[in-house]
Amino acid sequence: MKENSAMQKLPPYLFARIEKKIEEAREKGIDIINLGIGDPDLPTPKYIIERMAQSIYDSVNHQYPTSAGLLEYRKAVADWYYRRFGVELDPRTEVLSLIGSKEGIAHISFSYLDKGDINLVPDPGYPVYGIGTILAGGQPYIMPLLEENNFLPVLEDIPEDIAKKAKLMFINYPNNPTGAIADLDFFEKSVEFAKTFDILICHDAAYSELAFDGIKPPSFLQAKGAKEVGIEFHSLSKTYNMTGWRIGWAVGNNEAIEVLGRFKSNIDSGIFQAIQYAAIEALQGSQDSVKEIQRIYQERRDVALAGLERMGWQINPPKGSFYFWVPVPKGFTSASFAEYVLEKAAVIITPGNGYGEYGEGYFRIALTVSKERMEEAFDRMFNILGKVEL
Ligand SMILES: *Cc1c(COP(=O)(O)O)cnc(C)c1O
Repeated sequence: MKENSAMQKLPPYLFARIEKKIEEAREKGIDIINLGIGDPDLPTPKYIIERMAQSIYDSVNHQYPTSAGLLEYRKAVADWYYRRFGVELDPRTEVLSLIGSKEGIAHISFSYLDKGDINLVPDPGYPVYGIGTILAGGQPYIMPLLEENNFLPVLEDIPEDIAKKAKLMFINYPNNPTGAIADLDFFEKSVEFAKTFDILICHDAAYSELAFDGIKPPSFLQAKGAKEVGIEFHSLSKTYNMTGWRIGWAVGNNEAIEVLGRFKSNIDSGIFQAIQYAAIEALQGSQDSVKEIQRIYQERRDVALAGLERMGWQINPPKGSFYFWVPVPKGFTSASFAEYVLEKAAVIITPGNGYGEYGEGYFRIALTVSKERMEEAFDRMFNILGKVEL
């Protein structure tokens, strides 16, 4: 039996070669430092785990949850949006639970695309935007994110015939992999663009709470008119170190929330309720743990910045997310540099081309190991690279 044409179009797994090398090195007992993983190394805060522990004994929670999520959970999300962004949401019609935001990001294409329809997709970017588009039978149209434009897409560069045909536009700030943030001005321009061309904006705000130097990144929904044309995906994964728990949400335009909710209600049965109670606790409890997480990433960012500067990189440090997006030295491709650093320094970095064609020539560092391990990683890189030529 042959897989369908969408599956055939899926790009081969770009990290396969690197993963094989990691396995080989580990077998030899080499101590590898992994700066490749976009997954917090820190544990979920205790107050959240405690609520989970209580909730798991309540047999009501052992049954099917509702697909939309507990109203109490949706209220907790709405309250958090109001406290954090001053955005008012109706928990009944403007909030939907997701089994992690990745799930919703992939499924939104299935609820909106007909065969051959176009989605506007940032490049470099989180691979799910484009892959969800392809799996749903659509076609991604790439919006390049270039350093000279602060890694924002240039909406004027999108040809009018493409914009007219486009159904969805994905954007993501603070941005993975570039660490860029967007201001309200950009979001407002996006709203205008979406109104002109009848496009649904899908903003991925997974990193809204992870920013440096005291920056508080805005929500897309703070932009004037945003709710008329867009939704925002979010999750507890990065803010509360809960990537393994699988819980997130979509908020915003009530029609889009209804459509995505109807799609989902036919294929999944929601999130284990005990996890929803833990998430309620996360959002409503003391946010000191978030401050602590921010402080730790800031410290690591400064280590990475110093490490890169010592080797001769002059880069604008990331403003948000927990990534560094760095050009490879002269004479290397993204892949050859990642392989070189792994082989010679036993440090894993992610080749930028894994995030799209405009990622070629870059690599990504994730701040997801301890400060001490980061220092060690940069010492090792300095030992093999010295001063780099760019
Ligand atoms: C980590 C991440 C998410 C969050 O995914 P979950 O499914 O909520 O764990 C979403 N978008 C981007 C860009 C991410 O890097």
